[in-house]
Amino acid sequence: MLIRNATLLHGRDLDLLPSADVRISGRLIEKIGKGIAPRRGERVIDCEGLLMMPGLVNSHTHIGDSIGKDVGIDSGVEEKIHPVSGFKQRILKTSHPSHLKQFIRNSCVSMVKRGITTFIDFREGGLAGVDLLKSAAAGIPIRPVIMGRINYYQDMELVRKNSPLPRERRAELGALVAHCSGIGISGPNEFSDSVLGYFARQKTLRAIHSAETIEGNNASKRMTKRSETKRALLSRPDLLVHMTHASMEDLLLASRKGATIAVCPRANGALAEGIPNVELMMRSGCNVTIGTDNVMVNSPDMFREMDYIWKATMGMNRERLPPKSILKMATVNASQVLGGKIGVIQKNCFADCIFVEKHSIDLEPMHNPHAAIVHRVSENAIRAVMFEGEFAHGKI
Ligand SMILES: [Zn+2]
Repeated sequence: MLIRNATLLHGRDLDLLPSADVRISGRLIEKIGKGIAPRRGERVIDCEGLLMMPGLVNSHTHIGDSIGKDVGIDSGVEEKIHPVSGFKQRILKTSHPSHLKQFIRNSCVSMVKRGITTFIDFREGGLAGVDLLKSAAAGIPIRPVIMGRINYYQDMELVRKNSPLPRERRAELGALVAHCSGIGISGPNEFSDSVLGYFARQKTLRAIHSAETIEGNNASKRMTKRSETKRALLSRPDLLVHMTHASMEDLLLASRKGATIAVCPRANGALAEGIPNVELMMRSGCNVTIGTDNVMVNSPDMFREMDYIWKATMGMNRERLPPKSILKMATVNASQVLGGKIGVIQKNCFADCIFVEKHSIDLEPMHNPHAAIVHRVSENAIRAVMFEGEFAHGKI
């Protein structure tokens, strides 16, 4: 397939090419240039008037709670989504799997329509939880990166005693790791140093919540005399989720260890827990990505997320931030975690793209494409979404 005359956001720096041709072969991008001649019998699509950008990567979701939208909107984060005692767990336990599955499926479809082609999901409920998400997402043109977890959490006593992961749980974790993309660890406060170290030794992707709340951070210091992030890093995470209340020291440490941060600004705001300071994270040398977190508390819409974090950051710091750096957080920055072929339009990467209508009433005249995407594009302006070289939504 040959895409012609598209305005393209190209490569890892999202460079604007006013008129580019892109050859797609199977699931991958084969060639990018100008004036590429079509092969005999090749499908040619003229994209005059369209801006072609990478499909969005939603770096942190819990779409398993899609059935609980806005339940308990007045309660705090612990009461709502604590991995053991939160009432989210009660809703999930008492709901019929077929209902859970239907709403998970709806969230996947909703994400596709909003240009999300990959999402990294924290999946509770062990193997059964992983299977539920797999079957809910089956056949939908989106890439779920499933971070599973075992149903095992330690209390303060076990954490203090540095208790290891029990033998039967090790076997359970091994089976889980073989079955999904990685481990999604609820947080360092629920595990001893020994267990976090055990997670670190698994040959798979690792993500862990850290410094989402001031209380969590204080609890870690009370219990272990170390910050939540210092302990989270014992699990050698590829992805540190939140870091809203991480100190400069924590951020510098995360940067040195090469962990990417996934911020969830609207979810943190909705839970009245603060706003992550992405400017500070970038200054510390951290690679930052964006997620929408629990569907229960926030919609899985990355365009809204970008708009919110861009302006909140500039408002908080009273300093301008290029919109391109926000757009990178929703696309190319995630490729570092996902093996380099996702979230970027360049040769040999997956052909996951969004085609935005440049002349839509919301966008015209488009004087700054990066800014327009970050704070003006909505579903209205999306003509089509491509996933692995095939149209997943809309048509051209
Ligand atoms: Zn989360």
